[in-house]
Amino acid sequence: MKKNKEILYIVVPCYNEEEVLTETTKQLKLKLTKLIKDNKISEESRVMYVNDGSSDKTWELIEEISKKEKLFTGISLSRNRGHQNALLGGLMTAKNYADIVISMDADLQDDIEAIDQMLEKYKLGNDIVYGVRNARLTDSWFKRVTAEGFYKFMQKMGVDIVYNHADYRLMSKRALNNLENFKEVNLFLRGLVPLIGYKSDVVYYERKERFAGKSKYPLKKMLNFAWDGITSFSIKPIRLILNIGIIMFILSILILFYSLFMKFIGKTVAGWTFIICSLWLVGGIQMLSLGIIGEYIGKIYNETKSRPRYIISRNLIEEDTKK
Ligand code: UDP
Ligand code: MG
Repeated sequence: MKKNKEILYIVVPCYNEEEVLTETTKQLKLKLTKLIKDNKISEESRVMYVNDGSSDKTWELIEEISKKEKLFTGISLSRNRGHQNALLGGLMTAKNYADIVISMDADLQDDIEAIDQMLEKYKLGNDIVYGVRNARLTDSWFKRVTAEGFYKFMQKMGVDIVYNHADYRLMSKRALNNLENFKEVNLFLRGLVPLIGYKSDVVYYERKERFAGKSKYPLKKMLNFAWDGITSFSIKPIRLILNIGIIMFILSILILFYSLFMKFIGKTVAGWTFIICSLWLVGGIQMLSLGIIGEYIGKIYNETKSRPRYIISRNLIEEDTKK
């Protein structure tokens, strides 16, 4: 039996977001107050900011907000660990206090009006509700093309992800408890969540422009993220190497016959170009293969160390209850 008033936590990772936090707080406060007033969620619901080792005033701001506003709280990671780790830290902390957790970005790009629909879908028995952008009108041409290409490529690589879904989603406590058992260090949450496998649904929303400040995902981070997504979820690149290897092997047998044939008809010196070409080709393929295999070994190396994925240095909820 589900309680009729459940505790909702909204987890918001923040990295150098001092420019947007005040506005985000204003809007989330309105939303949360309204949901509580309409009896849709318990009055113990909160917004939990996760400070991901910001170098600006973000954490001071979070502390200040949480003192002033009853509906706001926060945790702080010991250093910058990246969006995915910060998000995980927030989700795993929030699930100790909440029945439902929604994760969203700090920059108000995720339309907070979609929260109502998410809650409705949750009430209908979904443990996971994905927020999906129905348009990318506000993203730059470059971001749109690379991001959409990424989703398509991931699907080709056999990774089960929801198209155009980022990290704006609702998860039940039960789903989060299961997420905790996925111990990998190379985190790619939007690939992991579908693996939990509970009943899920999607909610469409329009992605807005970043409210203020710059994107904290420069191209280099985006590429790293995409690469992690592929190599943490797909072994197709390794298979590709195997296939190339097989083709090369067949080719080399053909070449053996060819060169023997040439020897018999006495034209051996003419093979110089051919030797040089194949030398470079084979060398190149070997280097490439070693590189890809090395990448996976690197991943194994990191996973076997199984270091903590985040370390919380402050937790305002705990600090409040002690006072
Ligand atoms: N973020 C984070 N740690 C990082 C980088 C980003 O916690 O190292 C947060 C950031 O504060 C924001 C969210 O992740 O709330 C998404 O980042 P951003 O909006 O810059 O990405 P974009 O929307 O441009 O893809
Ligand atoms: Mg953003």
